Amino acid sequence: MAYNEALAYAKDRKQFGQAIVNFPAVYEMISHIKARLDAGRALLYLTASYVDIYKGLEDIERDRKLTDEEKAELKKYQKLASACTPLAKGMNSEYANINSYDSIQVHGGSGYMLEYACQRLYRDARITSIYEGTTQLQTVAALPHVTTGTYSQMLEEFEAQDVRPEYEALKARAKAMDAKYNEAVEFVKAANNNEFTDLCSRHLYEMAANCVMSQLLLRDATKSPELFDKSVKVYLNLAEAEVAKHYNFVKSLSVESASSSLHFVHDSVGYPMRVQALALYNLARHCEGRQSRSNP
Ligand SMILES: Cc1cc2nc3c(=O)[nH]c(=O)nc-3n(C[C@H](O)[C@H](O)[C@H](O)COP(=O)(O)OP(=O)(O)OC[C@H]3O[C@@H](n4cnc5c(N)ncnc54)[C@H](O)[C@@H]3O)c2cc1C
Repeated sequence: MAYNEALAYAKDRKQFGQAIVNFPAVYEMISHIKARLDAGRALLYLTASYVDIYKGLEDIERDRKLTDEEKAELKKYQKLASACTPLAKGMNSEYANINSYDSIQVHGGSGYMLEYACQRLYRDARITSIYEGTTQLQTVAALPHVTTGTYSQMLEEFEAQDVRPEYEALKARAKAMDAKYNEAVEFVKAANNNEFTDLCSRHLYEMAANCVMSQLLLRDATKSPELFDKSVKVYLNLAEAEVAKHYNFVKSLSVESASSSLHFVHDSVGYPMRVQALALYNLARHCEGRQSRSNP
């Protein structure tokens, strides 16, 4: 809805003699909304399909014993569902926030006013990354699949799939992103420190999600270029930049930086309190002086 509202408004609103949709700054925002929407939806459908498969097998199991092959399938899809659910919930709720924020931005000042739906979408989106498990808790749920290689294995399987010849260059870029993700995971694991792993977990989580969604859009555009050709191209640019950002960030961290971040936060709280205490002390001294001089 944020996408539809932004697009309709941008086609209608004229500034400097033309519809604002023609300004690169505006059409870029709208194209990013659409790309995130398609990527997030692809991840959601993948997750739902894994859940459907294992729940279906569980239903069969209630009526009869599963064959060994079916048991192996059940285990496989349970694991994939548990790996993809935190990615789908966390990323889609964060994307809902970003997309509704950008939708307001496309509307300019009107977007802030109650007359336009986008302000409500923004307020409604805000809770989605908090309830049913905050994004930080989705990251906690995803972490075992980062460290034990579930996402890496998924990416390897995607990489083995064929794409249309015109998407080979995009596929090579997606593969390079996967390699960056794997390298960052190995870097964090090599430190062998739980606090450091937790500190890096959101970065690794977002890298995994960006890589998986890029692969999914490549798959979808290969099947239906008329629907996903533009999204895959825009999303890959976005995802590539995100993966590079997180990669550089993780590689710039160390076990020592985990404790210095913690001290930084504690000191940041302490400093303003000390300033306040000093201000109160000075005020008290000032009042004392006034009291003794003229105003008991
Ligand atoms: C409108 C609304 C509807 C709701 N509906 C329901 C409902 O129907 N049923 C229901 O059961 N609950 C419901 N909730 C509660 C909701 O699920 C919780 O607010 C949510 O799970 C977050 O828990 P909390 O508020 O206790 O925050 P806290 O757990 O105190 O979290 C505060 C911050 O700390 C972070 N944090 C906490 N623990 C960790 C950790 N281990 N690692 C990293 N970061 C961490 C969080 O991510 C967050 O940033 C609702 C809440 C709202 C606002």
